Amino acid sequence: MSYDPENIFAKILRGEIPCNKVYEDDYVLSFHDIAPQAPVHVLVIPKGAYVSMDDFTAKASPEEITGFMRGVGHVARELGLAENGYRTLANIGEHGHQEVPHLHIHILGGKHLGPMLDKNF
Ligand code: 5GP
Repeated sequence: MSYDPENIFAKILRGEIPCNKVYEDDYVLSFHDIAPQAPVHVLVIPKGAYVSMDDFTAKASPEEITGFMRGVGHVARELGLAENGYRTLANIGEHGHQEVPHLHIHILGGKHLGPMLDKNF
């Protein structure tokens, strides 16, 4: 799947659509999810044009990968989630139910989140 520069997160990165920003550096932008599914629900996206974690892990430079992963950890600590724990989640493609085709990590926390997935598979 090729990258669509008109996806909603690309527009947020370009400042065409507003976001409730949590953190930004050379590698990542982080902002609150518009439809939170936990008391804390924040997204972290790379600045580079990557469709998904699959695309990113295949094509991103070591600097981009390091910067992105450090950004995720930094945001979680800044939000005070590290002590009690939290969940990171990346949906990939159709079976992963990815809705926005720009890589994003969900950071979810602020309460006990329960089991990872519905066991009825
Ligand atoms: P996915 O299903 O692709 O992993 O998650 C996409 C996430 O992006 C969803 O949790 C959804 O609520 C969030 N989202 C979609 N559009 C916007 C938006 O315009 N702004 C923000 N802040 N979040 C969005």
